[in-house]
Amino acid sequence: MTKFSDLALSPKILKAVEEAGYETPTPIQQGAIPAALDGRDVLGIAQTGTGKTAGFTLPMIHMLARGRARARMPRSLVLCPTRELAAQVAENFDTYSKNVKLTKALLIGGVSFKEQDQLIDRGVDVLIATPGRLLDHFERGKLLLTGIEIMVVDEADRMLDMGFIPDIERIFSLTPFTRQTLFFSATMAPEIERITNTFLSNPVRIEVARQATASETIAQEVVMFRASRRDRSAAEKRNILRQLIEREGAACSNAIVFCNRKSDVDIVAKSLKKHGFDAAPIHGDLEQSQRTRTLDQFRDGGLRFLVASDVAARGLDIPAVSHVFNFDVPSHSEDYVHRIGRTGRAGRDGKAIMICSGPDEKLLDQIEKLIGKAIPRAVLEGSTPAATAEAAPQEKPRRTRRKADAPEVTADAEAPVEKPRRSRRKKTEEAPVEAAAPVEASAPPQAPAQPSPQAPANTDSPKERERGGRDRDRGGRRNDGGQQNKVVGMGDHMPSFIAMSFDERRTG
Ligand code: AMP
Repeated sequence: MTKFSDLALSPKILKAVEEAGYETPTPIQQGAIPAALDGRDVLGIAQTGTGKTAGFTLPMIHMLARGRARARMPRSLVLCPTRELAAQVAENFDTYSKNVKLTKALLIGGVSFKEQDQLIDRGVDVLIATPGRLLDHFERGKLLLTGIEIMVVDEADRMLDMGFIPDIERIFSLTPFTRQTLFFSATMAPEIERITNTFLSNPVRIEVARQATASETIAQEVVMFRASRRDRSAAEKRNILRQLIEREGAACSNAIVFCNRKSDVDIVAKSLKKHGFDAAPIHGDLEQSQRTRTLDQFRDGGLRFLVASDVAARGLDIPAVSHVFNFDVPSHSEDYVHRIGRTGRAGRDGKAIMICSGPDEKLLDQIEKLIGKAIPRAVLEGSTPAATAEAAPQEKPRRTRRKADAPEVTADAEAPVEKPRRSRRKKTEEAPVEAAAPVEASAPPQAPAQPSPQAPANTDSPKERERGGRDRDRGGRRNDGGQQNKVVGMGDHMPSFIAMSFDERRTG
């Protein structure tokens, strides 16, 4: 069995690793660390939870320990899709480099440019950034990327989803071709394959088992749910969630509750709180300071339920989550794998419970195909979902979906938030990103149409349209922007008579 001491890392790093409590390197570390130390490019196909962060951080620290940073010319660069992930990588750097003298800067939105400029001016060994914020600094003339010796791209598949591929390509082109590249992605979509073929030089390819197949420690189940009435669906679903939590009892020490939409994240968190559960929301429209506070609380055990959107929770390292509740069936099957991967980590037992309502059965099928097995159906004892609905607050059917109901826009978890119709480079720091909801004149209440996997609705944000358009066209995915059914010229408010047949209009 490989030990950390077999990996040719410096004693100072080995000491930090030991102090972190790691005994043996994970498979991705066993593959990536020696290859990176040899100066090879690395293509790591691994998901979060596999130890990939240490897989690239440890060799970087080792290699950067020699040499010194120059003003405005960072020596290495780690690109992450979201602020939280970038902050987490920065934390990892601090942990593993505590016995080595290295300087680092974290370039993410929600933090003033001034502070970040000062750090860069002094010279940094390691720059950890989200692509948008990095390019902002570059375009302000504050940063040179010609000194980059090592470049890491983390969670490239999520970068693709968020429309960051053109930014990544640009950043690659700003760095010297002599750089060493460590590239990580959970999946190898054709577009990712293209990027790696273009920018990686004869990489060592390390693939670790997919989480879906690896995580035998996660017990999964799905509760099929049919609302007694359409307008009670949402309230009844929340009731089911509470019953499930209560059924799990003390075994549910802490949990993440995933919702597809930001508005539902807020509603579910509020509802849980109202019913005496200790819950708080996290999604991309919340202020960064609030997101950080909530996460810290959850990590420290001061919060039992984190109600989250996929994006906000993506890649977050939250140890020891006993349960994951999928309040909604995720619209992308891979998100199911990511979501349930939050529990059952590092060999611990975990439980993942999903609520599936009728319209979502197709998505459930897709998930089962992806993970290659059927998820056991669970029955809530002594009650049918309809009979246990909370004293139904009559939720009026809505004819159109409000903006806030749009599925979480992936890009908004990334730092620079911006307003619609503004140039990306002129964005304001804290303006919330709103998803432009596709037209759904006759959408059923509380059950907005699920985006198809080929055309995810999360590309509808202004930011996505602005920066992701090229990517989507080239990638051949979702390039209709979900506009197929739109009546040109009517905006979001198509009068209902337009949808009638000509005869109906004449007689009616
Ligand atoms: P990551 O996939 O990088 O997000 O890491 C997932 C979790 O595994 C983090 O909590 C790390 O601290 C932890 N970890 C990383 N490497 C090891 C290791 N060799 N042994 C035990 N835990 C590890």
